[in-house]
Amino acid sequence: MIRIPTQHGNAFELKAGQRLKVMTPLGPQVADLFCVFKGQPKDSLSSGRSIDYEDSFLFTTGNFLISQSGERMFEIEDDTAGRNDFLVAPCSAQMFRMISGTDTYHPSCLENLTKALQPFGVEEWQIGTTFNLFMRIGFTAHGKIKLLKPSSNKNSYIVLKSLAEMIVGLTACADEGSNGGVCKPIDYLIY
Ligand SMILES: [Zn+2]
Repeated sequence: MIRIPTQHGNAFELKAGQRLKVMTPLGPQVADLFCVFKGQPKDSLSSGRSIDYEDSFLFTTGNFLISQSGERMFEIEDDTAGRNDFLVAPCSAQMFRMISGTDTYHPSCLENLTKALQPFGVEEWQIGTTFNLFMRIGFTAHGKIKLLKPSSNKNSYIVLKSLAEMIVGLTACADEGSNGGVCKPIDYLIY
């Protein structure tokens, strides 16, 4: 098991058939995930295709995550929290500037994913909408969205089955607002 410290991120390889279990050891916390096919870093995770082909914007056990070219990347095999987001981009320095109105440095999932994925040939501009594990976005009938407390509690987990050789970036989300006011670490296990 590997721990991603608070407000940090990692990148790693997965083989087809391997499972990625992502856990929240210390309480409600979001983890942003982005991935590309190994050797094809331009074919990356696509929120739009996943929502289209799965006929839903709420993803949990049984759903597939799909790439830009329409290939299946992950199957969600288990999900004790039951709610994940695939609508919003990872938190970024720009987002924190817009929210706080200052230029004070703030760590972000976009920065952490970029740093972790660059050695594998993934550029910052490619990192679009992440699969936001345990992130809960509420919505009205008119489509207005609202950030809610994470769906995860202490020791919640999700299991993703890899369907191809992939490069995966994963963060312990750096946005206090997305994590019930306090950012916490994320654990993951590959088996
Ligand atoms: Zn984040």
